[in-house]
Order: sequence, then C-alpha cells, then structure tokens
Amino acid sequence: MRIRDLGEFDLIERISGRVKLSSRVVKGIGDDAAVLSYKKDKYLLFTSDMLVEGRHFCRRSGGYLIGKKSLSVNVSDIAAMGGIPLSAVISLGVPGSLGLKYADELYRGIRAVAKRFKIDLVGGDTVSSEKIIINIALLGEVEKKNLVLRSGARKGDLVFLTGAIGGSSKGRHLGFTPRLKEARFLAKNFRVHSMIDVSDGLLADLGHILESSRVRGAVIHEDDIPVSKAAKDFNSAVIEGEDFELVFTVSRDEAKTLMQSWPFKTRLSRIGEVCRAKGLYLVRKTGKKAKVGPLGYTHF
Ligand code: ADP
Ligand code: MG
Repeated sequence: MRIRDLGEFDLIERISGRVKLSSRVVKGIGDDAAVLSYKKDKYLLFTSDMLVEGRHFCRRSGGYLIGKKSLSVNVSDIAAMGGIPLSAVISLGVPGSLGLKYADELYRGIRAVAKRFKIDLVGGDTVSSEKIIINIALLGEVEKKNLVLRSGARKGDLVFLTGAIGGSSKGRHLGFTPRLKEARFLAKNFRVHSMIDVSDGLLADLGHILESSRVRGAVIHEDDIPVSKAAKDFNSAVIEGEDFELVFTVSRDEAKTLMQSWPFKTRLSRIGEVCRAKGLYLVRKTGKKAKVGPLGYTHF
C-alpha cells in the first residue's frame, strides 16, 4: 500500500493513533494548532505549515507574495484557535541556483506579515533542495477562556463564514489576510462553540468541525454563501480550498447579538445550521437539497 492509496487524512489519523501524549498536551493532533499547558490563565498554541513549489505556489508568483503566504497560513491557524501569534521559526529548502534577490524577497514578504501581526522571527533551518520548500512553525498563546476548538459544535448551532470563498487558484491564495482580528473579536466577546480556517475547502472543513464535534450533520444554503468574483463557479468554490476564511458555529441566541455587533468590513454570513440529519447537506438556489459529504482538496 502506498501513501497515495491512504490519503492525507487517513495518514494523519494513523500517525495520531500511534503517539502517546503527556499531560502537558491539552489538544494534540486534530485541530488547527496544538494546545499546550503554559501559564495559569493561558495556553500555548503551536502550529506548522509547509509550502512546496509546484504544489502550493509557482516560483514566478514572486518571492514576496510566497513569503507572505508562508507565514499568513500559520497566523490563520492560530486565529482559528482564538489566539494570537508570538514567535516563528522558518525552515527553508532552496536550490543553490536560486538568485539571492529571490531569497531576499521571500524574507521581505515574511517580515511584512511578522511586522503586521507582531511576530518575532527567532530561528529556523536552511538546506539545499531541488524545489523551494518553506516550512514555518509558529507559537501563539490564548487565554484559557478564549480557546476555540473544532470540536465544540452543538445541534442547533448556526454556521457562519467570514468573507467570500473561491478563486484561490486564480491568485487569491497568495493575497489573503489572515482573519486574526475577526477571530479575536469572536473569541473574546462570544461563546464560539467551534471554529476552523478554510484550507481544505468549505465543505471539507465544515466536515472536520462536524466530525470532531461528533454532531450528526449540517445544512448550508447556496444562497447564503458568498463566492468571490475570481471563482470559476459555486461548485468549485466550495471544494477548492485555501480560502483562509473562518467557519465557526455559535448558538442561535449568540448569533443574534453577533450579527448586530459585527464591527468589521469583512463580510459575515450566516450560511447554515448544525442539525439532526446525518451528513452535510447543501440547499441549492433551486431549493433542491443535496447531500454533499465532506469533499475537498486532497494533497496527494
Ligand atoms: P490545517 O489545514 O489546519 O493546517 P492540517 O489538515 O494540515 O491542518 O492538519 C490537521 C491536523 O493534523 C493538525 O492537527 C496537524 O498538526 C496534524 N498533522 C498534519 N500532518 C501531520 C504529521 N505529519 N504528523 C503529525 N501531525 C500532523
Ligand atoms: Mg487550519
């Protein structure tokens, strides 16, 4: 059997089934970041993401944007936990033939994101490789009371989405802003039951919430899901991935206050509801309801 036959998610499950964790670990594999014991009133968050040339970006997109993306994807994961980022280490695989200017631009992009979100760049590793590979590991912190996991969705919760989805392959995956201020606002002011950032695709990532929360299913409405102008169409937008928007659930009561007090330009949409029926359902514009099961971008 090859890795390709297993797929990304089953491979991760296989890994996580074989690790033993100490009591320092509050949440290990299975959320946007690991949650670790830290201070009396705070947890440490720890996440890592790798970008590989040809898979996640093309060299011709330019070092600056790729550098920005490499740190932004990690910030997005810390945001999805309700936390704030602190310090990062950057591991770089670079071909020896790569121009120095390109590496400078890559780091200019990383520094721009670090400055914006007050992240310290504190180390890393550099190796020679055929393709450009950037792996960033990011530490963050979150007040214990503000931690949001994927696993807290409850039946009857309403499902929300920030921004619009789709069009990541048309360049939106390089230019996005992690929804850190929105996530912090949510975590600090509302009882957010569950949250994830959209990297695998809206359907797949909502599927992750449902599965980790052990709720039966959800219904979402095509009419309520904003699709970016860059997206090919609705169907591709919900499975494409790399939108880095937030999907979260709150109770119906909480939702009312939230809608009234949302202070950002970033759009906030109520897209559906966690429900009794088993599976993920999409109500099309025609009114027809279809089971859409968690489908998404597979990395193999
Ligand atoms: P995200 O899209 O939010 O970055 P992923 O889908 O990459 O999350 O990963 C899901 C979970 O699996 C995370 O908790 C991540 O830390 C964990 N994970 C991914 N790859 C590995 C691996 N090779 N070994 C251990 N844990 C992993
Ligand atoms: Mg994530």
